[in-house]
Amino acid sequence: MRDRVFSGARPTGRQHLGNYLGAIQNYVALQADYDCVYCIVDLHALTTVEDTVGLRDNTYEMALDWLAAGIRPAETIMFVQSQVPQVTELHTLLSMVTPLGKLTDLPTFKEKVRQQPDNVNYGLVGYPVLMTADIVLYKSHLVPVGVDQAPHIEFAREIVRSFNYRFNTKALIEPQMKNTEIPKVLGIDGKEKMGKSLNNHIELAAAPEETSQRVMRMVTDPARLRRNDPGNPDVCNVFSMHKIFSSPAEVEEINRDCRTAALGCVDCKKLFAKNLNKSLEPFRAKRAGFAAKPDQVWDILHDGAARARAIAEETMKEVRAAVQLPE
Ligand code: SF4
Repeated sequence: MRDRVFSGARPTGRQHLGNYLGAIQNYVALQADYDCVYCIVDLHALTTVEDTVGLRDNTYEMALDWLAAGIRPAETIMFVQSQVPQVTELHTLLSMVTPLGKLTDLPTFKEKVRQQPDNVNYGLVGYPVLMTADIVLYKSHLVPVGVDQAPHIEFAREIVRSFNYRFNTKALIEPQMKNTEIPKVLGIDGKEKMGKSLNNHIELAAAPEETSQRVMRMVTDPARLRRNDPGNPDVCNVFSMHKIFSSPAEVEEINRDCRTAALGCVDCKKLFAKNLNKSLEPFRAKRAGFAAKPDQVWDILHDGAARARAIAEETMKEVRAAVQLPE
């Protein structure tokens, strides 16, 4: 039997290149070796989103992008968190073995308090407990995370250990971290991480013309002020993207010609836009196919939720028995 991988992501609507290179691409690859459970964590989103208008649309658009990128719902369980109510039950039970002081001491909680001082809700405090419930409810063995997220998984393991010890059970599996290299993808400003809030992103589903326009706005080597100045590809975000989306021969040529000013930034970006649009063609075609049948996308999510609920209920039977709750 293959190990099970769990990962969740907030419903942020249409995905961008940063989402693709940082997570979705890895989600797709993991399907070859693991049983994968991928969850759109809409309950988590409620801790920071005050206006829920658009939440369903964001869920749908994100699911559409995951499917178009290559998530295979026949084998992978892909679903929406709130459609498996057992997760809130497990969250409550795990909260009984989680010290409050530990939760309020977490740097991530303190950061949220700084970001939204007028909305320090209970959900923010309990976020890591709900996250642990997400992982262990599906008897997941591995969670793909970057090194900076290792403390979250360690904390989840501590909660699981406390629960299993307190109720003398082995019902919950301690998840392991699947160390994953998560590249920091810079936005078109060339400075900040790509994200919608900064409007420095390139949407996967954007039309080719819009994609090209965004690429042409990308900041290049900041020291290259005139066309005839030699550039330095090592500090240029466009070159980083070429390394992902262009052929090795093109990358070699750009690396050489930029340094001698034989290549200008406008032409370099035009080439990147062309190659990026070419790479995105299969994604866009597949997305258009799913978008033409929105019910099919929801059916996939509902089917995923049904399969997730079946695993969740098995886990909860063991958990309720361990806690001595009535059957
Ligand atoms: Fe960057 Fe290309 Fe301009 Fe060189 S030519 S600075 S790699 S955009």
